[in-house]
Amino acid sequence: MDEQKKMPKSLYGMKPNEILGALGLEKSYQAKQVHQWLIRCVTDFEQMTDLPKMLRADLDHLMPSLTSSTVIDSRTDSSGATKLAIRLHDAKVVECVLLTDKEERKTACLSSQVGCAMGCSFCRTGTMGLVRDLQAFEIIEQFVHLRRIAPDTSHIVFMGMGEPMANFAEVVQAIKYLHDPQGFNIGFPRITISTCGLVPGILKLAEINLPVKLAVSLVTADNGLRTHLMPVNKAYPLDDLKTALLRYQHVAGKRFTLEYVMLSGQNTDSDSARRLAQFIRGMDVMVNLIPWNPASELDWQTPDAKEIAAFTRELDLLGVPYTRRFSRGRSVNGACGQLAAANPQ
Ligand code: SF4
Repeated sequence: MDEQKKMPKSLYGMKPNEILGALGLEKSYQAKQVHQWLIRCVTDFEQMTDLPKMLRADLDHLMPSLTSSTVIDSRTDSSGATKLAIRLHDAKVVECVLLTDKEERKTACLSSQVGCAMGCSFCRTGTMGLVRDLQAFEIIEQFVHLRRIAPDTSHIVFMGMGEPMANFAEVVQAIKYLHDPQGFNIGFPRITISTCGLVPGILKLAEINLPVKLAVSLVTADNGLRTHLMPVNKAYPLDDLKTALLRYQHVAGKRFTLEYVMLSGQNTDSDSARRLAQFIRGMDVMVNLIPWNPASELDWQTPDAKEIAAFTRELDLLGVPYTRRFSRGRSVNGACGQLAAANPQ
């Protein structure tokens, strides 16, 4: 083994033949063994007990950690949600969350960027601005860190920090790796990409025919209010968004979700319900109602039970299909829109 060999930051994202070259292994079956151990989320070469002891020691010396990132904080709340803060190789910090639902199904909520440039006014991550895009291996490693906590994590949502469509190539690369049946084997229908409405990304997703689920953060079907709440609406107003979604549905042939963050006194009156009903006309969608998750630095209010009930009554009358999301991870700032790690400049 070449002592001077420059090691990669991470082996995650690599196929066995790439691992073979990266580690300078002599036998291809050993690269396959390393790959399988990576999928089992081991932390170092020493644990790869089917490799010769000498080789393990050499590899361990060259690459003491199999991941480029380190968990620096872990918090769990009473709903069972665990938020991890992860330090990346350049000391930037990103967050991801493990969510457990009523059926004990475990979902990894992953980040695609450190911070976010989209500036949605109801979201803590938006207050950070964009620090940088994540590389595919950094996205995969979030999943690895969560899997070490819960090996039965079976679903993935890109609803953490960042706008996945603004880091499209790396997100797609990570998804393909996480989907690989020889690897983590997460079925495409168990993976959801959530966007604030970046039209080119929605169209690209339709084009490449990646059969993951799509969720779009709508928040309001009032163009003026949406521009006020979500700057993305200036570039891609509701008409453009709807045209893209119709195109997506035509090509992908799939129902998608519209996320509707409920902000008290803003988007929960009967007029808002009517506009929503009009917006979804002609599309096969499910509206996901999410009462706003509080963030101390933001000035919005969460609607109370009465306000939510009045809005859902309107939706019922208008025949709008909806589900109500019960927030998990709020008390550790791990719920939707609450991620915002402090980052060195
Ligand atoms: S809601 Fe999503 S797209 Fe909007 S600022 Fe937050 S992370 Fe970015």
